[in-house]
Amino acid sequence: MSQAHELVESDVLVVGGGLAGTLAAIAAKERLGSEGKVVVADKGKVGRSGQSAFAAGIFTAFDPEQDKIDVWMDEIVNWGEFLNDQAWCKLMFENGLRVLKGIDRWGAEKGLTVFEKDGDGRLLRRRSRGHLNTMHYVVNSLPMMDALTSKMRERQVITMNRLMVTDLVTVEGRITGAVGFDYTTNRTYYLRAKTVILCASGCGFRSVFMGHRNLTGDLLAAAYDAGVTFRNMEQYASNTTAKNYDIHGLNLYVGVGGRFLNAKGEEFMWQYHPVLGNRARLQDLVLSFCREIKEGRGPIYLDMSAASQADRALCRKILPESFRLWDRAGIDPFQQPVEWIPAFYGTITSGGGIHINTRCETNIPHLYAAGDITPEPPHGTYSFGGINLGFTAVSGWEAGSNAGSEAQSIQASAIEKSERARAREILRNRMQNLMRADGISGDDLTTAIQQAIIPVDSGYFKTAARLAESWQSLEEITEKLASLRAGSAHELMRVTELESMTKVAKLMVAAARARTESRGYHFREDYPFTDNENWLKWVTITNVDNELKIDTQQVPTPYVQPKEKRSIPPGIKRASSPGA
Ligand SMILES: Cc1cc2nc3c(=O)[nH]c(=O)nc-3n(C[C@H](O)[C@H](O)[C@H](O)COP(=O)(O)OP(=O)(O)OC[C@H]3O[C@@H](n4cnc5c(N)ncnc54)[C@H](O)[C@@H]3O)c2cc1C
Repeated sequence: MSQAHELVESDVLVVGGGLAGTLAAIAAKERLGSEGKVVVADKGKVGRSGQSAFAAGIFTAFDPEQDKIDVWMDEIVNWGEFLNDQAWCKLMFENGLRVLKGIDRWGAEKGLTVFEKDGDGRLLRRRSRGHLNTMHYVVNSLPMMDALTSKMRERQVITMNRLMVTDLVTVEGRITGAVGFDYTTNRTYYLRAKTVILCASGCGFRSVFMGHRNLTGDLLAAAYDAGVTFRNMEQYASNTTAKNYDIHGLNLYVGVGGRFLNAKGEEFMWQYHPVLGNRARLQDLVLSFCREIKEGRGPIYLDMSAASQADRALCRKILPESFRLWDRAGIDPFQQPVEWIPAFYGTITSGGGIHINTRCETNIPHLYAAGDITPEPPHGTYSFGGINLGFTAVSGWEAGSNAGSEAQSIQASAIEKSERARAREILRNRMQNLMRADGISGDDLTTAIQQAIIPVDSGYFKTAARLAESWQSLEEITEKLASLRAGSAHELMRVTELESMTKVAKLMVAAARARTESRGYHFREDYPFTDNENWLKWVTITNVDNELKIDTQQVPTPYVQPKEKRSIPPGIKRASSPGA
């Protein structure tokens, strides 16, 4: 692979071309006008890789003509267990519908149905997982991404596919671009830009769940190395899925009447969440499933026999990939209960990430972040379904607009020798595995990383001792990484992904060790209560002079405050209810 990198200069560089990245690019180009240059670099294919093209139809947005903001604020903050960034909730409520309608209009221009409408042509709204008084819109994700990539082409955004971005370049404390390589051509690049927006999503640790296998946290790791501050990393998340099939769509399935049964045939979720039952938030489902199985009442099944004929047809339309798979397997999920399990998500969706303010700025000058690479700040722990898409869209647009404006105010400068040398040095360090003849293969390290953080006792029911063991395992993996070999650009990508996943796993475990209470996905058997008196705080992590520095920050609560000093966290039985 060539060490003499190619230089690509732009006003705004966007890393990652999912929903956040495409919207950021369109918004940046709108700010910069026809003279401005916006580049989107993606490890896979813009508009097709990552999660956005697979999203399962639930897009939450507030409608000022139909909804009450204090009701929505109350629900999102209570369900998000008070870790929400309430300023971000307000921003998302204020701007979500406008961005949604913009995407829908761009789709219509191309003859695409992005959002479902009712018989009168009004945008369809439903309630699914976690929605009590709030509601979501119903989105067709592939047409949504097609509408966005087509708008990007129309605005002459430059796309670079199959380009793995590995590291950020900083000069005197500010960001000047990123480096990476194209694993199909073996070319290396310095992508120099006035401002950079990170939209490369979270880290899914290659666990079972559709749409996030290439999301290995590369830009989380790169951002950590560059001194970016992280938040909520202890909230590592999980979704749930069919045990035997790579399927998605739970939000919709419970929205159309799906219910969870344990091995005794009991509809147990009402005991863990008496208000929402089967439509409880993900953290309730995941921890309750684990508890039921641990106490001998597993396996868990999803029973969707109550769905109406119209809802069955809607599920088929919104979830084409899942239903292609069900059909091929000869299974009708509306006729027979399907075994259902927790599916580890890592930092995907609300599971922690790069801390941003409401302008999407990070703590490093000229560096922005949007979408799933952030902790999705309106979520708190995890509030209700559809926030991921709603927040990703709003943050993508905000990041693009603000990074575009800032780029306009920065004078173009010729690249200095020292900056070019810095980019070359970073790339050389990254490629050292390629030059190592006697290194070892990293084949079994993915499993080792997963073993350190995913099993029930380390990933779901934590204690100080088990977290210390996880940390020790990750330290041992870090040592092995130093002697890995990569014989080709493709293998270099795999080795880099292992390095990224290990680094991100360490940030998660470090934050989990720091939070001595239980809240959201973070359940500590040694601290089994939610402690609002001492822990209404965000855990933050920053790399300071190559030392992992943990801090806490009191959560501002301008609109909604907790009423109890201490409360029961998710995954603990509360009471039986009429729904049981
Ligand atoms: C199966 C599934 C169903 C979902 N359903 C819903 C739903 O119904 N409602 C909802 O609100 N949310 C849903 N989500 C979550 C939602 O889709 C995501 O939160 C959202 O799409 C994130 O968008 P993003 O642009 O931040 O990231 P992504 O869409 O994941 O895009 C990230 C991009 O970054 C690229 N990238 C990664 N690493 C690198 C690198 N090193 N260099 C360059 N590029 C890189 C990837 O290739 C990818 O294209 C679902 C997620 C999944 C997986």
